[in-house]
Amino acid sequence: MRRLPIFFVLDVSESMAGEPHAQLQRAMESIVEQLRQDPNALESVHISVIAFAGKAGTVVPMVDLMSFYPPRLPLGGGTALGEALDELMTRIEVDVKKTTPNQRGDWEPVIYLLTDGRPTDRTEAAIKRWRQHYASRAHLIAVTLGGAADTQVLKQLTDDVVSLDNGTGEDLSRFARWVSASVAAQSQALDAGKTAPGISLSKAGDVGISLVKKGDPAPVDDQVVVFTGRCHRHKKPYLLKYNAVAVPGGLGGITSRGIYGLEGAYPLSEEYFEWSSVSSTKASVSSDQLEGVPPCPHCGALSSFALCRCGKLMCCNGPGVQTCPWCDADIEFGKGSGSSFDVGRGQG
Ligand SMILES: [Zn+2]
Ligand SMILES: [Zn+2]
Repeated sequence: MRRLPIFFVLDVSESMAGEPHAQLQRAMESIVEQLRQDPNALESVHISVIAFAGKAGTVVPMVDLMSFYPPRLPLGGGTALGEALDELMTRIEVDVKKTTPNQRGDWEPVIYLLTDGRPTDRTEAAIKRWRQHYASRAHLIAVTLGGAADTQVLKQLTDDVVSLDNGTGEDLSRFARWVSASVAAQSQALDAGKTAPGISLSKAGDVGISLVKKGDPAPVDDQVVVFTGRCHRHKKPYLLKYNAVAVPGGLGGITSRGIYGLEGAYPLSEEYFEWSSVSSTKASVSSDQLEGVPPCPHCGALSSFALCRCGKLMCCNGPGVQTCPWCDADIEFGKGSGSSFDVGRGQG
């Protein structure tokens, strides 16, 4: 039996924090569950999962469908698409068997690349290498989540770019059904000895997945801003996520004043920093533009938005002296002065 290798290359950047991340996790579980009900898929489909944020890495090396266990997906800062493509090409070299006079190789691999953002690393070299050496012997489908993904970059990579409208959970469960149905159809056709028909995108529209065409409008800028802070009591990191507030009549529905409303505060593990790129060009946003300050998700302190002079955020439970969990300096917090300050912003 020839193997049908499927790679999932998943964006786990910080803009995915919260519900989208949980939905992505569930979508992976549901794809595997649905595929396992298909005898053809069970025999041929092999799956590998590559995750990328500021760094890219293989979280599940190629394994058969029965042995596959959906991984706990990491989360990090940055969107290193170039690095993710390099990792993908390396894994294809290592994991996909070539046909030689002595062995029947694997079927052409299928790659689902999911991203909700814009690359924060350099992608030109990786895209060029992909087009030259891999595009003709692999089928890559790029899937965008939400309206901020850079479809121009993805279009350079593959003709098959589809968008899941707003990246809600509903969209991801439809995505899961679509992927399992098309992979099952592919493994059936291959089993019946037909030449590889390729994954068809024609049915995508039926489940609300739209094809992105050349010349589609550029993505809306900066829909999400995130900040990382640390709990002053437990020293553990957390992520604050704000979404652009839509103003009716504004350009693209998004206000030009750049007001961001709080979505939530999420506890992070130290693993977050391993998946984040060493921050380079960080944009800055003023606290005036932010609406809503949540309590610390670790200790419940009133504010998770206290700024140390080292430039990092920590939680704070009111006026008094506190030790910064980042730089160990003692900082005195007064009553809220109400003056605004600029804080470094994550890269999404
Ligand atoms: Zn705290
Ligand atoms: Zn500090």
